[in-house]
Amino acid sequence: MDLKSQFQQIVGEQHVADGAGERYVYSFDMTENPSKEPLMVVMPSTVEEVQNIIRLANETRTPLVPFVTGQNVGGLTIPQVEGAVIVDLKRMDRILEVDEEAMYMLVEPGVTFGDVKKYLEKHFPSLRYTYPLAPPFTSVMANALLQGLCDLSTMHGSMSDFINGLEAVLPNGDIVRVGSGIMGEENWFGRYPLPDLVGLFSGWQGMTGIVTKISLKLWPKKKAMTHAALFTFGEQQTTDLLKRIVREGIIEDADCQSLSIVKMLMGVAPPVTPHRGEPDYGTVLILSANSEIELNEKYRQLENLVELSKKDEPRNLLIDWGTVTKLMGEQANAWIDFPSDAFKVLAQYDGLTWVGTYIHPKYWGAALEGGRRIVEKYGFELMAFLKPMHMLHFAEFKFIIRFPKDPATLERVRRCNEELLDLALGLKAIPYKTPVWSARRLQQFADPAFFKLLRDLKKLLDPNNIMNPGRLDL
Ligand SMILES: Cc1cc2nc3c(=O)[nH]c(=O)nc-3n(C[C@H](O)[C@H](O)[C@H](O)COP(=O)(O)OP(=O)(O)OC[C@H]3O[C@@H](n4cnc5c(N)ncnc54)[C@H](O)[C@@H]3O)c2cc1C
Repeated sequence: MDLKSQFQQIVGEQHVADGAGERYVYSFDMTENPSKEPLMVVMPSTVEEVQNIIRLANETRTPLVPFVTGQNVGGLTIPQVEGAVIVDLKRMDRILEVDEEAMYMLVEPGVTFGDVKKYLEKHFPSLRYTYPLAPPFTSVMANALLQGLCDLSTMHGSMSDFINGLEAVLPNGDIVRVGSGIMGEENWFGRYPLPDLVGLFSGWQGMTGIVTKISLKLWPKKKAMTHAALFTFGEQQTTDLLKRIVREGIIEDADCQSLSIVKMLMGVAPPVTPHRGEPDYGTVLILSANSEIELNEKYRQLENLVELSKKDEPRNLLIDWGTVTKLMGEQANAWIDFPSDAFKVLAQYDGLTWVGTYIHPKYWGAALEGGRRIVEKYGFELMAFLKPMHMLHFAEFKFIIRFPKDPATLERVRRCNEELLDLALGLKAIPYKTPVWSARRLQQFADPAFFKLLRDLKKLLDPNNIMNPGRLDL
C-alpha cells in the first residue's frame, strides 16, 4: 500500500491531501525564508492517530512537520527536506480541563487564543490567560512551546514559564508525560520537583515529538485595571525610564514601540515615516490592582517617575487611557485588548518578518539605536518593539518589517535582517523562534558544547531524524 493510503487508513480519506493547491499553501509563510513544498498534509484528531502517524513515519523514514496555523514568523513550519509530511493539528482543538483552584488549563494543540478567551470569559470569569499581538486564530500551545511573549510577560516571563507539564508522542510512537500530570488526570499543577523535562519539548520547534496536551498557568483577573501611553525621546533615555518604571513593580505589562507603530494603529497609511519633533517611542503601560485605591496609588507613582524624568527630557509625556481613547477613538482598544485586530497593521502586505531576540537590560538602548540605524539604511519603516520580560531580567527586542514580497524587496529584507541579527549577536542577545539561517549564525557565536548537547539529545530521542529535520540547523 502506498504512503498516502496508509495515512488515509489512520486519519480517514478526507483528512489527507496531496493536491497541488494544498502542497503550495503549506510550502511558505509570510517571512523571507525560502519555500519548500511538502509531500502531503495529514490532519489527525486523536492522540492515537498521532501515535500511528509517527509510528508509520518512523518505519518509512518519512519526515514530519508539526503544524497548527503556521503563523510563527520564523519559517518554522516550512519543510527543510524533500518528502516531508505536514501534520496539521487543528482538529485537536479541545479545552480538556480548567482547574479553578490550582489555576491551570489543559489544552490540545489546535486550541487558539480566541477560543481560550471566549471560554474563560464564559465559564471562569475570575481567571485569565495571557494574550499576544498574534492573530486570535493561532495556537496557544505552539506559542508556549516556542517560548513566546504575551501581555503578562513583563510580570511573569516567557510563555514557556507558563507550562506546568505536557503529554507528548515521542518519535518512536511512545506517549510520555512530564510535570505533575505523571500522577494521573486532574493533577497538572506544576513541573517540579524532579528533573524538568518540559525542556525536552520547549524551544525545540517540533523536533523531539508531537505534544498532544499541555497544562498552562492561568491567573486571577485583577479587579481594577487601567492603561497609559508614555511618549519618549532617544533610545537611552527611553530605556532608562522604562527600567525605572518596571523596577518599581507598579505595572503589569509594558510594550515600547517606535512611534510609527502607534501611527499605524491610528490608521496612518503606509509607508509610515517619522516627522521632526515627534517623540521616538510610544510605550503602552498596563496597570492592575485589586481596588481602585491601589490602582490610583500605582498611577500616582507612575506619574511621579515620569515627572522626575523631565529633568533630563522635559518633553516626556504620560497620557491616561481616557485621553488616548478620545484621540484615537475605537482603535485605541486594538492596542490593549488582546487578542485583537491589531495584528492586521503588521499583516498589511504579504510579507512580515523580524529578528526577535531576548536581551540583557544593559544593552536595550544600544540595541534600539543600532537597529534604528540599520533599518533606516535599508529604507524600511521604523518598527522597533521592546518588552521588558519577567520584571527586569531581560527584554524581548525586535525590529518588525512588513513588506511586499517582490524579489528586490525580499533581497533587501534578507540583508537587513542579517545585519540586525549580527547587531543582536554582538550584544550577546539570543534569537528566539529561530529560523535556520539565524540558528546557523548563532552557532558561530555560542558555546559549541551547547549545540553538541542538542545534537546528542536529538539523536537519542529521534535516531531516524523524522521530526521536523533540519530545524535550528542541527
Ligand atoms: C501579526 C503577528 C503577530 C504576532 N505576535 C506575537 C506576539 O505578540 N507574541 C508571540 O509570542 N508570538 C507572536 N506571533 C507569532 C505566533 O503567532 C505565535 O507564537 C503563535 O501562537 C504560533 O502558533 P501557530 O499556530 O502559528 O504555530 P505554528 O507556526 O503552526 O507552529 C510553530 C512551531 O511549533 C511546532 N509545533 C506546533 N504544534 C506542535 C506540537 N503540538 N508539538 C510539537 N511541536 C509543535 C511547529 O512545528 C513549529 O515549529 C505573531 C504572529 C503574527 C503573524
